[in-house]
Order: sequence, then C-alpha cells, then structure tokens
Amino acid sequence: MTQSTLAPGLVLRDPALLEMRCFVNGSFVGEGMDPVNNPANGLVLGHVPDFGAAEATQAVEAAQQAFHPWAALTAKERSAILRRWFDLIIDAREDLALILTSEQGKPLSEARGEVDYGAAFVEFYAEEAKRISGETLPSHRSDGRILVLRQPVGVVAAITPWNFPIAMITRKVAPALAAGCTVVAKPAPETPLCALALSVLAKRAGFPDGVFNVITGDAVEIGGIFTSHPAIRVVSFTGSTEVGKLLMRQSASTLKRVALELGGNAPVLVFDDADIESAVAGALASKFRNTGQTCVCANRIYVQSKIYDAFVERFTAAAAQLKIGDGTIDGMQLGPLINERAVQKVERHLSDAVDKGGRIITGGKRHRLGGTFFEATVVINAHSEMAMAREETFGPVAPIFRFESESEAIAAANATTSGLAAYVFTRDVGRVFRVSEALEYGMVGVNSGLISTELAPFGGVKESGNSREGSHHGIEEFVDKKYVFVGGL
Ligand code: NAP
Repeated sequence: MTQSTLAPGLVLRDPALLEMRCFVNGSFVGEGMDPVNNPANGLVLGHVPDFGAAEATQAVEAAQQAFHPWAALTAKERSAILRRWFDLIIDAREDLALILTSEQGKPLSEARGEVDYGAAFVEFYAEEAKRISGETLPSHRSDGRILVLRQPVGVVAAITPWNFPIAMITRKVAPALAAGCTVVAKPAPETPLCALALSVLAKRAGFPDGVFNVITGDAVEIGGIFTSHPAIRVVSFTGSTEVGKLLMRQSASTLKRVALELGGNAPVLVFDDADIESAVAGALASKFRNTGQTCVCANRIYVQSKIYDAFVERFTAAAAQLKIGDGTIDGMQLGPLINERAVQKVERHLSDAVDKGGRIITGGKRHRLGGTFFEATVVINAHSEMAMAREETFGPVAPIFRFESESEAIAAANATTSGLAAYVFTRDVGRVFRVSEALEYGMVGVNSGLISTELAPFGGVKESGNSREGSHHGIEEFVDKKYVFVGGL
C-alpha cells in the first residue's frame, strides 16, 4: 500500500482507513497511479489505481457471482450486516471526517455532519430491508391468486460526484444492498479516499466477497462497461446533467434502468411577509454550505421589493463574516473550491454579471489565502439574462433578484431546465401551499434552507433527474415487481 499521511499533525486513530487500493471481490487490489490532492493546500494525499475496462469487467463479474447468494439471505441477515456497517461508520466518525475534509475541503464541522448523514442511510436501509413487502391482489379467477413479488434487480453500478463523497455513496449503496442487489461503485477522482475507507469498514462489517466493490480510474472506460455489461441492471448516477444524459444514451442499447440525481439551479423566494431573520439564516445556510458546492445550494435569491433592502443588508453583513480557511482548522465556515476549474467558473459568472449591470457588494475575488479559496460574494441588481441565473454557479456567490408579485416570482423560479430544490420564506399559510404546488421542483423547503434527510425522498424533475433517494421510496430503483399467478387452487 502507498504510505501517506493526511498532513503534518493530522493523525488518524485507525490508519488502516486510509486505503489507496480498490476493493474488488473482498480484496484490496491495484497500484497507486492517480494522485489525490488536498484542495486546501494542493498537497498530494496519495495515489489510487487507474482501472479501466478490464478491471471494471472483473468487478462487475465478481458482483454478478455474489448476487444470488446475497439475495438468498433473509432480510434479517442482510439487515444485521448493514447495521454493523452503520455502527463501524459511526465509531470511525472522526477519522472519516478528517479524510473527507482533507480530500474535499469542506470544514470539519460539515464533514462530521456528512458522516452522520451518510451513515443514517445505512441505518435506515438496514431497517427498511425487512419491510420490502409484496402484495396479493384480487384475482380474476376464483381458483387462482395474484401475487406481486418485489425482488432485487441484480447488479447495480453506482457513479458518484466529489461534493458529498460519503453520503452520495451510502444513499445509493445502502438501499441497493438492503434490497438484495450487489454493487460496483465508482467514486469521483477528486474524492476516492472516503469511498475506499467505507469499503474497509464494509469488509469488517462482514459483507460477503463481491457484494460491494469500489473501483477508481478512467471514467469513460468504466462508464462504458457499466452501461453495456449485461449483468448490470441499474446505473445509479449522481453528478452533472451533461454526464447523466450521456449515461442514459449509453444505457439504451441494453435497456438498463438509469436512476439520475443531477444538477440544480435552486431558487429562494423571500416574500414580504417572511420572518426576515429566518429567511437570512435559511438563505445563508443553503447558499454557502460546502462553499456553494451542493446541488441544492441556493443559486438565485429572489426577494420581494418591500423587504429587499433590509434582506440585502442583513444577508450581506452575515456573508461578509463567514470565516474562510483550511477546513481542518476549528471554526472555519468556508473551505476551498474543489479545483481551479471551479474557481474559473465562478469568475466567469461574476464578470458576466458585472458586464450585464450586476453590482458586487461584498467579496468578488479570490481570497488572499490563495489556491482555490474564494471570498463569500453577494451580487445585487441580478436579472434573468445573467449566466448565474441560468446555470449552476457551484461556488460562494449569491445573486439577489428583486420581484413584485407572487406570480412573477413563481414564473422566474420555474424559468429553468433544472428542477431539483427550491426554497420559500413566507408566514402566509395559503401562500405556502400555492407556491409549493406551483414550483416545478422535486423538493421544496418552506422556511428552511436545509432539507436533506434520510427520511425524505431526495430528487428532481425536469433536467435534474428522474430518481428518488432516501425514505422507503429509495428502495424502488433496486427492486423489480414480479407478477405470479397461482392457479388450480
Ligand atoms: P460530473 O462531472 O458529472 O461527475 C460525476 C461522476 O461522473 C464522477 O465520478 C465522474 O468521474 C463521472 N463521469 C464523468 N464522465 C463519465 C462518463 N463518461 N462515464 C462514466 N462516468 C463519468 O459531476 P461533478 O462535477 O463530480 O459533480 C457536480 C455535479 O453533481 C453538479 O451538477 C451537482 O449539482 C450534481 N449533484 C447532484 C446531486 C443530486 O442529488 N441531484 C448531488 C450532488 C451533486 P470523472 O470525474 O473521472 O470523469
């Protein structure tokens, strides 16, 4: 194994969690080739294998071999292993958070929150494994019965992004394993170490060989196998809309189920009757979590005219106070952006906004810490012609738009191809229902900027995806319904 430390002074209680090899058929395999960087300082944390089509095929075939025995266990037996995995993840919380912050950049407090959030899916689906019930339906014949069985689909391929390196894995893998499927996961190249640490804990939890596999390497080659190998029945993808469309096209020839959790362009609607303190706190939490790099981050903030100036003043003052720095330092609230390309996108959106009449009232440039740190930024006079109104900025930039009427706000919020999360701040009960129902989004947060929980179905409409993860709905992607007719009774 490649030896590496996270950083001077950052010692893991359990160094074996810093695994740099892939996990295939119960073994750790492969040579470190591709570097993994710490975005806070550019230092190389280690190297992971550069697997391609051949190794992806081996992993898929290991998962295929493991499928029938795993599916044949009782739900209670699968549940017990998932529950052990959950306990081990919670026991390793501090180490996992440190690995997460080191490869992804988010502040340690957020990383701990992500470990808890990610673990919660494992706990929830350990319980849910025992509740994947079938049905009996009224029969068309008195000597026959209609049964509907819900059975695991088979091997699942999971492809995940870098912004939630633990939770995006567990949100797919836990329901798939609970249902009786086996999984091959490919994490993002920026953040493979969390996925590999989860695989170390999965091995300790006692999953049989081949049930859960993690491979790193060439996305195009691995994605090519995931979308064409006949054993794969579901491709479960979280990431950009562009790659989601590509994977759907590639999966067409073998008609795989493609479960997509894609990009967002979340609007926040703040009405005159809102509690302004809660609206500022909610918009701030939604905008700046993970330095603006979540799919449900506020991308556009619409404020009704009577409350506009007061909101802008308080929101800007709060944004200017956010502490920016290396996420492993206590008290930091904004870490670095993931890479230079992300910073350049933020700069492109800002210069486009300024060219089109936007005014930056706090932040607006790279942070003096250098690297990929960027100041918390607020832009006023935002309007619909700006790139930041149409595309996900995925950075710490809050454009604030003014509106007059409820119908104008709804129309502006819906004027996008995305439809993941939207937020509404109002104290009018009638408006809560009118606006929530009119928004073309998969999720609506009312008087709250944070909505993610394992207990609710997370997912989008339009070009934000077609799937739901979390809650009992999260099982559906991983089961097939089989109709059995029993005649001659
Ligand atoms: P991305 O560029 O689409 O990458 C996501 C994953 O797909 C990575 O593992 C990537 O690996 C892989 N990939 C890229 N091209 C591929 C191909 N041809 N075949 C197979 N795999 C391929 O997205 P990202 O920049 O990592 O993530 C940010 C995006 O994810 C944002 O749009 C965000 O809104 C979205 N997101 C959505 C949700 C949700 O639940 N809806 C949650 C989190 C994030 P390589 O990098 O090696 O190419």
